[in-house]
Amino acid sequence: MRIVLLGAPGAGKGTQAELIVSEYEVTHISTGDILRKAVKDGTELGRTAEAYMTKGELVPDEVVIGIAAERIGLPDCVNGFLLDGFPRTVAQAEALDKALTNKLDVVLSLDVDENEVIRRLGSRRVCQGCGRIYVAEDVTGDCPACGGKLIIRADDQPEAIKRRLQVYRDQTEPLVSYYRNAGILKTVQAVGDIEDVFERVKTVLKDVS
Ligand code: ADP
Ligand code: ZN
Repeated sequence: MRIVLLGAPGAGKGTQAELIVSEYEVTHISTGDILRKAVKDGTELGRTAEAYMTKGELVPDEVVIGIAAERIGLPDCVNGFLLDGFPRTVAQAEALDKALTNKLDVVLSLDVDENEVIRRLGSRRVCQGCGRIYVAEDVTGDCPACGGKLIIRADDQPEAIKRRLQVYRDQTEPLVSYYRNAGILKTVQAVGDIEDVFERVKTVLKDVS
């Protein structure tokens, strides 16, 4: 299955992505994770990307398209993949269509209220060690999984959150109609428990492929 996960920052893409890849035979591709790793490793890509990311801006299309196309071309994507955070612009979606030999099966759009998104992002904490994501209210001290330090991502600071939501509305939301027109859009209400959302996701995926 070839899946794209669409949704505002804070809609829960990363969380649902992990559940989906543990249930279905698809490779998880998160451009955000790839970029954050590059920043951490101090590569040239990382240095380019960091300035955009901390401001909540998108990394330029030509950079991200190259990374995504290369990743999708690796052997572990032959049986399917789940794209999380890509495409984020119409140009990226068009480039993806061109790069694929086999068409996408479904685009899952996680729907969530904007106030909810602001609340979620403000209380998000990330483990410096293993990258797991937590809600501040749910944990005290270090990462329960690995003991790493829990931090607020630079792009989860209030100003960056505002900018990311603006960027989402301007540049990414048009993809909803792009994929609706392509006939492969499925909308999932992303409010409520993680498990409930995942049940809705599975219901949608049952009808695909
Ligand atoms: P979130 O979904 O929480 O906004 P991601 O982890 O998907 O976060 O992405 C973090 C940041 O990485 C984005 O704000 C952006 O700067 C950059 N990024 C990730 N994917 C893309 C993409 N497809 N195009 C441009 N920039 C991207
Ligand atoms: Zn950890």
